[in-house]
Amino acid sequence: FLSHSLQAKMSRPVQARRLEGIDKNIWVEFVKLAATYSKVNLGQGFPDFPAPDFLTEAFRRALSEGNHMLHQYTRAFGHPPLVKVLAQFYEKLLGRDLDPMTNVMVTVGAYQALFCCFQALVDEGDEVIIIEPFFDCYEPMVKMAGGTPVFVPLRPNPPKDGKLMSSADWQLDPAELASKFSERTKAIVLNSPNNPLGKVFSRGELGLIAELCVKHDVLCISDEVYEWLVYDGRQHVRIASLQGMWDRTVMIGSAGKTFSVTGWKVGWVVGPDRLLQHLRTVHQNSVYHCATIAQEAVAQGFQRELMLYGKPESYFVQLPKELQQKRDWLVQSLDGVGMKPIIPEGTYFLVADISQFKSDIPDVPNSDEPYDYRFAKWMVKNKGLAAIPLSAFYSEAHKNNYTNFIRFCFAKEEATLKAANDILQKWKQEKAS
Ligand code: PMP
Repeated sequence: FLSHSLQAKMSRPVQARRLEGIDKNIWVEFVKLAATYSKVNLGQGFPDFPAPDFLTEAFRRALSEGNHMLHQYTRAFGHPPLVKVLAQFYEKLLGRDLDPMTNVMVTVGAYQALFCCFQALVDEGDEVIIIEPFFDCYEPMVKMAGGTPVFVPLRPNPPKDGKLMSSADWQLDPAELASKFSERTKAIVLNSPNNPLGKVFSRGELGLIAELCVKHDVLCISDEVYEWLVYDGRQHVRIASLQGMWDRTVMIGSAGKTFSVTGWKVGWVVGPDRLLQHLRTVHQNSVYHCATIAQEAVAQGFQRELMLYGKPESYFVQLPKELQQKRDWLVQSLDGVGMKPIIPEGTYFLVADISQFKSDIPDVPNSDEPYDYRFAKWMVKNKGLAAIPLSAFYSEAHKNNYTNFIRFCFAKEEATLKAANDILQKWKQEKAS
């Protein structure tokens, strides 16, 4: 009897209903393609240049300087030195007093911060407004929490003078945005600077969103992981600093993006205790605790940045300066071959128009797969250059409206960007001959 029951296969469904329809993931597919075929990987968003020495040295010191307790658990909601320095830093940026123990929580990357937000704040039947194009995980995370995503697009308005488009030319239609708010709306997700476009929302645009949030008593989940990566002297405005917003906003940051250490997976949330207390409940019942040593090193990185705030030696000043140069190189490369770039105001991503390359990879009518997916797959397999299709950053319903673009990451060594340029130039010559 025992051996029979041990062999018996389960016949009941095993998958929890909340996972229905969210099993596919663009990164799983494209990271594998890039690993298999790419010679030059401008796909997934991570730097291929080294992290700053002061940070890796801080990690090494934390490991070797005899404080063996750094190998043990620390406080569940954030290693005390890290939450303290984050509170000091954001106090400066937001112009308000912060309590490190209640207004800051450390997470496993910004990704877990997002997960905590949706699980803690979104209920069955709640609507969550998401601005398209968006970092793809927002949609499945809202659905997993039982919520309904409601999408509102940034609409492109190409400049009439024949100049290259900028991410600033992608804008919300105020009436359309307002029409998405209702009594069912629980939250809006804001991502400025925006992945994938690189759009940095202006004070005016944020003011409009803030006004609607206050009017409809809606929360704002503000993903600001690229807060330091803004170019051409632009300013990143934090929506939590606008009138009426602190009390309803959770701000999300990432050491991965801030210090070029995406593998460390240290992120954080900053916000009012009345919201963060619920995020802590999710955190203590899921992850509970993040790696101590990485938190210690990030804390030291922030202490350095606090001391050098606004000075030329600050990493938060140097990194955007270097990235702006890399952006300009890639813009030039792409423009030179007719893959028209949309100039990003921030982030380390750049979206480019592939329309002029359509003759190389003809469309397949009535295919399930959006054209840009096929293009990106063809490009990595045949040219060795990896990028991400833009339609991956749209909801199912709107995917097919944006299939002429791909996204590149330019947080790369000069040699990598040069190799990408070589591939593009060679391709252009082959097209011409
Ligand atoms: N938000 C956005 C907009 C992102 O682009 C990313 C990373 N690609 C994350 C959150 C996740 O950040 P982390 O690596 O810190 O989890």
